[in-house]
Amino acid sequence: MNLHEYQGKSILQKYGVAIQRGVVVEKVEDAIAAAKKLTEETGTGWYVVKAQIHAGGRGKGVVEETGSHGVVLAKGIDQVEEKVKGILGGHLETAQTNGVGKLVSKVLLAEDVYYPGEAEVEEFYMSVLLDRERGRNTIMYSTEGGMDIETVAHDTPHLIFKEEIDPRVGIQGFQARKIAFNLGLSGEAFKQMTKFVVNLYNAYEGCDAAMFEINPVLKTSDNKIIAVDAKVTLDGNGLYRHPDYAAMRDTMEEDPLDVEADAAGLNFVKLDGNVACMVNGAGLAMATMDIIKYSGGSPANFLDVGGTANAERVEKAFHIILKDPNVKAILINIFGGIVRCDRVAQGVVDAYKSIGNIPVPIIVRLQGTNAVEAKKIIDDSGLNVHSAVLLQEAADKVKEVLA
Ligand code: GDP
Ligand code: MN
Repeated sequence: MNLHEYQGKSILQKYGVAIQRGVVVEKVEDAIAAAKKLTEETGTGWYVVKAQIHAGGRGKGVVEETGSHGVVLAKGIDQVEEKVKGILGGHLETAQTNGVGKLVSKVLLAEDVYYPGEAEVEEFYMSVLLDRERGRNTIMYSTEGGMDIETVAHDTPHLIFKEEIDPRVGIQGFQARKIAFNLGLSGEAFKQMTKFVVNLYNAYEGCDAAMFEINPVLKTSDNKIIAVDAKVTLDGNGLYRHPDYAAMRDTMEEDPLDVEADAAGLNFVKLDGNVACMVNGAGLAMATMDIIKYSGGSPANFLDVGGTANAERVEKAFHIILKDPNVKAILINIFGGIVRCDRVAQGVVDAYKSIGNIPVPIIVRLQGTNAVEAKKIIDDSGLNVHSAVLLQEAADKVKEVLA
């Protein structure tokens, strides 16, 4: 689950990581009051207005309606309202929004941390993520902050450093010092950076994150080290332990199909093929996708309906599958271990009738408890549903209907 910058920063702050502070604004009318409040708290006279969307590259991105960038400086409170107007309510297109502008419904009004002494600031890159191959957490960091890290990796890979952290012992003092040293820091800035790194790592661990990316990490002219940006991805499987973070979910930022599948308790991943599948169990779903390939099609999705494949869930699954115009056939592959096949078959028939006309052929393979009764229910239904008993048979039928 991805978070907005302001949400990520609130977590960082809880773990003692110094951040560029700000106030979230949802209405232009609130901008001036927010600016005054921020000045009271931070003493800032200049502000940065930052679009809150789930995509990076906002600084270089452009708001379709106004031509404003997604991150802009307001040099004084008299400029705040105009700058907020240029972003809030508009559609921001960045290098990461796949060619469509994203609606900005919140902006973060933040303190300007570059001024005064703009010439003396330094921007770094730092992220914490899991290295699955090594089974370790990794802190990736670079002296080349503030720009696209993929570009740095491509042009100057020797300027990206990695520090592996053993999750059993956590981050060690010498590792934090090594990072501060490699970033070329000394004196007070060195000390602040070691604190920053330790607290950042602990934030990552503490909220079951999949990634924390801070770009840029800023060394201010008075040697503070602060997080100017925060891109945070939490591990969805760990969210049950953090109800307060789970509540930060912004479904407006997600694919509507994913949101619908999630609400129905379906494990769904959209793919770009032509044969949809509906399966119980992730392993069987993977095998079913292989069969689809084997029969000359390609999977349009991964869909695990879970243990209770009842009529209601099957109907939900049909709805989601049928929103994809590429789907030419549907393969239902259910193993009835706990759930009885005849009940699933009845569920399929009921869902079919409830939806009305399903424009593509459906191949149903039900195996396990009461499979024979199930096949009879499908065969007698009079609908455009083909039953199969063996996997091979199901694959052949898919081939047939695609031909
Ligand atoms: P991103 O473009 O989505 O990665 O958004 P960032 O939060 O990283 O902001 C983009 C850029 O705006 C940063 O790389 C900085 O160069 C600039 N920026 C951010 N905060 C400030 C600030 O307080 N003062 C100034 N002058 N520039 C800032
Ligand atoms: Mn950034």
